[in-house]
Amino acid sequence: MLNKKSIDDINVKGKRVLVRCDFNVPLKEGKITDENRLVAALPTIKKLVADGGKIILCSHLGKPKGEPKPELSLAPVAVRLSELLGQEVKFAADPEVVGPNAKAAVEAMKDGEIVLLENTRYRAEETKNGEAFSKDLASLCDVFVNDAFGTAHRAHCSNVGVSSLVDTAVVGYLMQKEIDFLGNAVENPVRPFVAILGGAKVADKLNVISNLLEKCDTLIIGGGMAYTFLKAQGKEVGKSLVDDSKIDYCKEMIEKAKRLGKTLLLPVDTTIAADFPDPIDGPVDVSVVSADAIPADMEGLDIGTKTAELFADAVKSAKTVVWNGPMGVFENPTLATGTIAVAKALAETDATTIIGGGDSAAAVNQLGFGDKMTHISTGGGASLEFLEGKELPGVAAANDK
Ligand code: AMP
Repeated sequence: MLNKKSIDDINVKGKRVLVRCDFNVPLKEGKITDENRLVAALPTIKKLVADGGKIILCSHLGKPKGEPKPELSLAPVAVRLSELLGQEVKFAADPEVVGPNAKAAVEAMKDGEIVLLENTRYRAEETKNGEAFSKDLASLCDVFVNDAFGTAHRAHCSNVGVSSLVDTAVVGYLMQKEIDFLGNAVENPVRPFVAILGGAKVADKLNVISNLLEKCDTLIIGGGMAYTFLKAQGKEVGKSLVDDSKIDYCKEMIEKAKRLGKTLLLPVDTTIAADFPDPIDGPVDVSVVSADAIPADMEGLDIGTKTAELFADAVKSAKTVVWNGPMGVFENPTLATGTIAVAKALAETDATTIIGGGDSAAAVNQLGFGDKMTHISTGGGASLEFLEGKELPGVAAANDK
């Protein structure tokens, strides 16, 4: 369904192929603590190697803010990628990213070899889509492949800038897979289509709520954002997270659901505590109350047991489920019950299950349900903007079919 050229549509034999990957992995003392993003990049790299291209990989890592920061070097990624691919990935250490060392490394490449450039955000122009760095990147390659869904919602040199300066700019397999899954789910879902939204703030997901309400059959709202909806229904929510400036918006959404004949499910009960736990995973005394009986001095921190059943039931009858945002403060084991119940319901259904990136992906993986989902997006912000119905600049920049 994606109307963009992919690596299946081009011939890279003997060509220098610059591939923008998302190697923004968590590091602890120089060790990679979660390599999902590296594994997700392998199919594209293997295909290009098999086709005889000279493969030049690039990515950002963390926020070095435009200057070399040794602790954010991509060097450890080159080591791990070499192991995963069973082939050397030569690291082009270079404070300018595309400086003398990187140019020499690319110059010396033979067909089927792989070089990894240094962290693209060592260059200040990267996040501003500045021309000089885009030109540097374009000068290294004949073909550009964008396989970094995680940054597709940003217009940077290493995805958008470079695309405009090369003749051939296509998407990789990971990008194609993300867009096919998310796009199909939203634009062409097998119904009933249930969308589940959670997380902290309504304000972060205004357009997602509105867009999904139009596309889905049932919209489920849990997490911190549910309390603003409950307040919009005239309920007292005590010390729970509420955005008073968004109450009218929530009223509008409740009305919109009625007008469109959509089911909008909100919590009917909630798990409360006297205070937000400090530290976040520290001990906390909780009880469960009805959603219209939250005491003034208590805070709602998870959905309640009846709500978990209600949400799980809605999932059971779905054929497509999209989920973004935890149902409660899942970082705390006592407050992860609602998020676990929803993850379990998704794990047990035969429906197509798609997890937006960021916290929901982390929650599903942490709770051990990762391999039970149809698709877990590698992009948090990018998947949200996609669910908003926006065109992602990193995708738009690729050549049309
Ligand atoms: P988001 O980044 O918007 O997806 O929000 C994820 C964060 O929302 C997690 O860190 C959760 O701890 C937090 N969260 C979920 N439910 C609640 C709640 N009821 N009150 C406060 N924070 C919450």
